[in-house]
Amino acid sequence: MKQSLTFIPTLREVPADADVKSHQLLLRAGFIRQNTSGVYSFLPLGKKVLQKVESIIREEMEVINGVEVFMPALQQAELWQETGRWYNYGPELFRVKDRHERDFALGATHEEVITSLLRDEIKSYKKLPLTLFQIQTKFRDEKRPRFGLLRGREFIMKDAYSFHASKESLDATYEDMKQAYTNIFTRLGLNFRSVIADSGSIGGKDTHEFMVLSEIGEDTIAYSDSSNYAANIEMAEVNIQYVDSEEKQETLKKVETPEQKTIQEVAEFLETVPEKCIKTLVFKADDELIVVLSRGDHEINDIKLKKVLDAQTVEMADPLEVKELLQCEIGSLGPIKLPIGVKVLADHAVKYIVNGVCGANEKGWHYTGANPGRDFSVDEYADLRFIVEGDPSPDGMGTVKFAKGIEVGHIFKLGTTYSIPMDGTFLDENGKSQPYIMGCYGIGVSRVMAAVAEQYNDDYGFMWPNQLSPYDIHLIPVNMKDETQAQMAEELYKLLKSYRYEVLFDDRAERAGVKFADADLIGLPIRVTIGKRASEGIIELKYRQAGETVEVQKEELLEKMQ
Ligand code: ATP
Ligand code: MG
Ligand code: MG
Ligand code: MG
Repeated sequence: MKQSLTFIPTLREVPADADVKSHQLLLRAGFIRQNTSGVYSFLPLGKKVLQKVESIIREEMEVINGVEVFMPALQQAELWQETGRWYNYGPELFRVKDRHERDFALGATHEEVITSLLRDEIKSYKKLPLTLFQIQTKFRDEKRPRFGLLRGREFIMKDAYSFHASKESLDATYEDMKQAYTNIFTRLGLNFRSVIADSGSIGGKDTHEFMVLSEIGEDTIAYSDSSNYAANIEMAEVNIQYVDSEEKQETLKKVETPEQKTIQEVAEFLETVPEKCIKTLVFKADDELIVVLSRGDHEINDIKLKKVLDAQTVEMADPLEVKELLQCEIGSLGPIKLPIGVKVLADHAVKYIVNGVCGANEKGWHYTGANPGRDFSVDEYADLRFIVEGDPSPDGMGTVKFAKGIEVGHIFKLGTTYSIPMDGTFLDENGKSQPYIMGCYGIGVSRVMAAVAEQYNDDYGFMWPNQLSPYDIHLIPVNMKDETQAQMAEELYKLLKSYRYEVLFDDRAERAGVKFADADLIGLPIRVTIGKRASEGIIELKYRQAGETVEVQKEELLEKMQ
């Protein structure tokens, strides 16, 4: 590609609103432009990298028999109502109306769409298992879109959904996916770890996240320095604090920051808790105490949350009133008794209870919280202590370390969470109707691109790894007005292209300084410079990552490319 014919708007200055390296460089090197908060255009170079990321993902999905489909972004509300997510997904779901005032969601994820697709078509166990995947734009109205492509409101995701007749079959595909993800992130050149994530079940064996280790990561992972043990501790915030005495409650109150929350924040908070847990929020709305149960009890949640939203005045309930109220409410939920399981944020702030959550913790091992009665008997709790850096890891094979991570992938055994409410059933070998057993597997394609960008750069710009670089070679005649240089550049351009190299040919009439600065910024693996010594048939090669330069005869060029 001739640089004069493409569109690479590089910037010398660091854009003011870009806080992290990848975002700054993607803007400066002319890979992306922001349209509005969390919404980006991919310019020619950005689009090329994106395509390379997609190809690697696509290849590895196909290795494990995933087949690609393309599904609508515009999804009728009725589908989301079937699973209750229309009411429970919260403000992250973009909602739109058509001209007939019918409600739609912009696809934040596609479980509903794909389950509805298959339930009409796959009716026999003979057609299972089946793994379908998509590489598409997803829409999420993130509370804090930031760090460029890392957290967009419109972003590209590979999502895969698998359908099975048995749990064993799901287990097998899940393992295949794990391997495929490991292959993908290895091929992408990322420094990553697969971590146990929260699934609401002890041991968290049903879901894994793939985390790129990075200072700017928004997740915290605990890992062992000498074994494969690694877990997300994201649930720290909503994990259970057990409070068994007034004294401990007082201590807790002191460590938590008092805060008032808006209804929107509360609705968002509801979204931070995984499907399986039951959570209680208590509000004082129009002078009435209202308990909102989430997830585990959709019906109550919907009616009561609406009541809260409709109220004229809403404030957080007083802790003592809450305590009294919950003592009777919680009794109906299970064996857990108050005050165990209550997290008190502060006076007059949100009170909530989470049960059934134990983060990424192994039985008996807790980074921040625990569920008394489930993870350990209530009598034992006196011995409970939270893990700190340097403690032995739960597998006993190393010591615990903490690190920041960027979540680039997430695989999940869904089971029948979607197939049951949506009536996604098939006939088994005995002619009996059974719900599909499902899995889902996401990779943030555009986020991955930013994660690679974050990892591969220096003070001058990008240093793309070969497999993702938008072009293989940056061909730069220093002075296009010099007949010898211009001619040799044209000749080498043709030659390299004939050998299937992707070449960016800087044929612009710019000064050498501008061309070199742009080349460093764009960061292709090899720069081929045609300068003064062109008349002697000598050109210069510069390897971007190593920073080395060598002069060679132009005839040696192809050889040096190997
Ligand atoms: P996060 O915890 O970062 O909000 P998530 O857990 O909500 O991500 P999933 O629903 O698991 O995301 O989606 C699958 C993948 O999509 C994630 O692992 C991540 O790589 C990517 N992803 C999610 N949200 C965004 C976003 N706003 N911008 C870019 N990529 C995203
Ligand atoms: Mg999210
Ligand atoms: Mg997450
Ligand atoms: Mg996730």
